Amino acid sequence: MAGLYIHIPFCRTRCIYCDFHSGTDMSVQEQYIGALCAELDMRIAELQEAPIHTLYIGGGTPSQLSPAALQQLFAHLSKYIDWQQCHEATIECNPDDLSEEYIATLRTLPINRISMGIQSFDDNDLRFLRRRHSAQGAMEAIARCQAAGYDNISIDLIYGLPRQSLEAWQKNIDTALSLGIQHISAYALIYEEGTALMRLKEQGKVTECDDELSLAMYRMLIERLEQAGYRQYEISNFALPSREAAHNSSYWNDTPYLGLGAAAHSYDGTTRRYNPADTRAYIGAIEQHKCCYEEELLTETDRYNDMLLTRLRTRQGIDEAQAKAYHAPHLIDNMYRMAAPHIACGNMERSDGYLRITRQGLFISDSIISDLFVVE
Ligand code: SF4
Repeated sequence: MAGLYIHIPFCRTRCIYCDFHSGTDMSVQEQYIGALCAELDMRIAELQEAPIHTLYIGGGTPSQLSPAALQQLFAHLSKYIDWQQCHEATIECNPDDLSEEYIATLRTLPINRISMGIQSFDDNDLRFLRRRHSAQGAMEAIARCQAAGYDNISIDLIYGLPRQSLEAWQKNIDTALSLGIQHISAYALIYEEGTALMRLKEQGKVTECDDELSLAMYRMLIERLEQAGYRQYEISNFALPSREAAHNSSYWNDTPYLGLGAAAHSYDGTTRRYNPADTRAYIGAIEQHKCCYEEELLTETDRYNDMLLTRLRTRQGIDEAQAKAYHAPHLIDNMYRMAAPHIACGNMERSDGYLRITRQGLFISDSIISDLFVVE
């Protein structure tokens, strides 16, 4: 069982908070698709014939690909993917791109899940973030996808925006809940180095949301979504029953995946590979039939730290028997020793063979996870 990730590094405009690899130059789109197909041919063997169960086309903005480019890409994917076995095929879309015609093209392809970067249902927030859609446009895009038969739709929301009130956030959540979608990912706004948002902060033009308000927003998110029947299965992810994101879950469950395209990462259980975050350099290398990734062989400690970082983000937590089977005794001893004070004060728990962060501990999960880390 394996996953396939494809990175599409094109966006029509850039949002102020974004540090993902993407650019607005569409002139290389055709060459890029050719490079993706060639890279797939060169690297499919890395999956050692494991069937591809999940496909995720992310970005960037994959819905900026023309219908012809998407069709070319899927024709090539079909050489390697048995779509009967690929349970989940997701594409990230910008609401503005989802015209009836574009959705009709998506419906001709084996895409069964749409992930929409909506971020907010408040037009002032959207303008501030430099998103190119409006709240109304986003709601209409969801309705068009549903009318076309999509019954597995995820949206992304951001909270903790400068000047955002708890009431405004509640309105966002309630709007999301009124739309009949299956999955919601919600993240606190992060001020990433090198972004326009960070420059505004450094110039004193925006002020970060204070920690207490951000926590209150997170608490409200969990409560309202759970009341509405969404299960929080990961720190930032909520789903209706059986609508958890299978592809993302495989990142948290140690499933191997191959990542194609500029800035894409791959993982095979022992090694991580990183493609360059440079679209033209990526195309150039692949056109010369060269793989261009950097490789990192994971040490025992890296694999232990990765387990903490990924599994403790999930509500299920760490399968203790599996952890003991895969990790050295001194690392497991460290895990229990460092978890003990958190268990004592109710931020972690052990039950049913799992070690996990409790609801109470969720609000300080980053510091709990880093306490359990081992530094070499
Ligand atoms: S659309 Fe997505 S990838 Fe593109 S700039 Fe905005 S946040 Fe970044």
